[in-house]
Amino acid sequence: MTRPPPYDRGVDKDNRPVPFAVDDFRRRMDRAATEAASKGFSGVLVTPGPDLVYLTGYAPTAVTERLTILVLAPGRPPTMVVPKLERPDAEKATGASAVTLVDWLDGADPYASTAPLLSADGRYAISDAAWAMHLLGLQRTLPGTTYVSLTDGMPMLRAVKDPHELDRLTSAGAGADAAFEEILGVRFAGRREIEVAADLAALLRKHGHSQVDFTVVGSGPNGANPHHEAGDRMIQQGDAVVLDFGGLRDGYGSDTTRTVSVGDPGAEVREVHEIVRRAQQAAFEDVQPGVECQEIDRVARRVITEAGYGDYFIHRVGHGIGLTTHEPPYMVEGETQRLVPGMCFSIEPGVYLPGRFGVRIEDIVTVTPDGARRLNNSTHEMQVVA
Ligand code: ZN
Ligand code: ZN
Ligand code: ZN
Repeated sequence: MTRPPPYDRGVDKDNRPVPFAVDDFRRRMDRAATEAASKGFSGVLVTPGPDLVYLTGYAPTAVTERLTILVLAPGRPPTMVVPKLERPDAEKATGASAVTLVDWLDGADPYASTAPLLSADGRYAISDAAWAMHLLGLQRTLPGTTYVSLTDGMPMLRAVKDPHELDRLTSAGAGADAAFEEILGVRFAGRREIEVAADLAALLRKHGHSQVDFTVVGSGPNGANPHHEAGDRMIQQGDAVVLDFGGLRDGYGSDTTRTVSVGDPGAEVREVHEIVRRAQQAAFEDVQPGVECQEIDRVARRVITEAGYGDYFIHRVGHGIGLTTHEPPYMVEGETQRLVPGMCFSIEPGVYLPGRFGVRIEDIVTVTPDGARRLNNSTHEMQVVA
């Protein structure tokens, strides 16, 4: 089980981000309740995970079978049901002073403690990752209630980042960029992918990350599989190597990809890299408020298709990022959500030639009032490593 990252820590001597204040959480909870009402929900039910961290700053040290659930209902004070033994921890969360706590003791029925906070025929948006046993417990206790997942019901809940969140995402991106600069200096040829992946993980930690979520090292033919992580393959002279890595710094995510070449890449890799670079740039330049998410995907795809590689770009062009490294909004065909200043997401076109090599370039970007800003700024020129 991955522990949620520490969230509301203070500014330290290295000028790390200021902590979120209780008013930040109060505002988020108000907005969630209002949005729920506007979408016809009776409220929002949030169990431990990124949504609870977002709304209250509370991340239980261990997520167990004991029910913890935040109930946000329009016109009623935010209330969180917690196990009695965890109440002292919950009280320490920054957002806790804006929340009424209701505790339940081992042996009691936690769903009976939750029921008075719900309406018997209510329709609720509930955390995607709420345990089935908890949802079943609520349904058993209140058979007239209905539920949809929070991501289906309110996908944009965490999508628009406030300035403090943007600061954290910016420093996470800078940390990932610094890790990339340093990985260029390590030996690639004659080492296994997993060894370079371990170097990348160490560099992310060195550059402020508390958690490493993925370190993709896809060399040669492995680069043509976008889901390849890192394996035993020995990296060889002439390989193109896809490096896709990220994790959490101060609770917020990084995710960047560069494709490097071990020695001279040859004409074809250079050509494909240039096409992917142009696709990434075109999509970036298209970002501005009001543009539909699917348009960002289309712009990148058009460049790759016109260059003759459309069949080899086999995934959506991007995903949102924040407290997690994959979240709405998704830059994908069919997503008509319009971009709003403060949204943060990846632009990561790629070309994958089965059995041969792959190229991907990925930056996190944020929507500004008049365009976009990159949170990754390492060079897009293909770097040659040893
Ligand atoms: Zn990535
Ligand atoms: Zn990504
Ligand atoms: Zn990804």
